[in-house]
Amino acid sequence: AKAEGRGGFRFFDDSLTASARHRIEMETRLRRAIEAGELELHYQPQVEIASGRIIGAEALVRWRDGERGLVPPDAFIPVAEQTGMIGLLGEWVLREACRQGREWRDAGLAVPRLAVNLSARQLHDESLVERVRAVLDETGYPPDRLELELTESALMHQQERSVRVLRALRRLGLHLAIDDFGTGYSSLAYLRQFPIDVLKIDKRFVDDLAENNDDREIAGAILAMGHALRLSVIAEGVETEAQLAFLRANGCDTYQGYLFSPPLPPAAFARLLAE
Ligand code: C2E
Ligand code: CA
Ligand code: CA
Ligand code: CA
Repeated sequence: AKAEGRGGFRFFDDSLTASARHRIEMETRLRRAIEAGELELHYQPQVEIASGRIIGAEALVRWRDGERGLVPPDAFIPVAEQTGMIGLLGEWVLREACRQGREWRDAGLAVPRLAVNLSARQLHDESLVERVRAVLDETGYPPDRLELELTESALMHQQERSVRVLRALRRLGLHLAIDDFGTGYSSLAYLRQFPIDVLKIDKRFVDDLAENNDDREIAGAILAMGHALRLSVIAEGVETEAQLAFLRANGCDTYQGYLFSPPLPPAAFARLLAE
């Protein structure tokens, strides 16, 4: 029996794939990184097309790793989602954005609305609303200056529950945006049941706006749909004047992208605000 047990153990160990091993290792490193204060937020301005003014900023997380330098979120957010670490990480991001926003306000900067990404797993955590309320209380950050970005796919899952949670979040006074819009099932009927404020046109439809007629049709349809529901529409990943010209001509409200600015470290973003 003992030999069998050992064999069984060895079988399990050998079959642990490289990707599973990587996941477990990353989970441990990520937990340590949060505890050691190795995460930081960068802020990407969101610009009102009509006025050219910065009216918001999206907070995007980075990991300052001793060996690897600045690690982009695509390298660790998916692992955080798979392992459940996203709850801890997401709460850190929310608290840090609110803390930073409060600090800037106290320093007299005109801080625009800060947008924070929320993963599907956070949305479906029973305690989300209480956690958000606690962070707002703790940091003294004004709720109407906070926007939470959720993806379409996060809302699709357990729609009725999602609607209840979104209503409760909105009662806290904050704003809600649907991120990566157009990549999922986005009918008007589906959209109108959610109490949201903003639609974000996914970058993949913005990329070829100047050349591809299908993408122009899709972006145009999203703008029409958003405005029919009296939502504000923002385009992400705007890199060229030609893309911006199309968006302006089609009544898009806001844009975000390298054309105006990449995500900036806090000090650089504060300098931009002070200008
Ligand atoms: P996202 O929410 O769609 O964020 C937009 C991404 O597009 C950001 O990448 C941003 O740097 C990039 N971007 C913005 N403008 C341009 C542009 O003009 N051209 C190009 N090529 N890229 C542009 P980033 O910061 O690497 O974030 C990647 C993804 O990681 C985000 O996609 C989001 O899904 C996730 N993420 C980042 N921070 C958080 C977070 O705090 N929580 C959660 N749950 N997810 C996060
Ligand atoms: Ca986002
Ligand atoms: Ca997005
Ligand atoms: Ca994306």
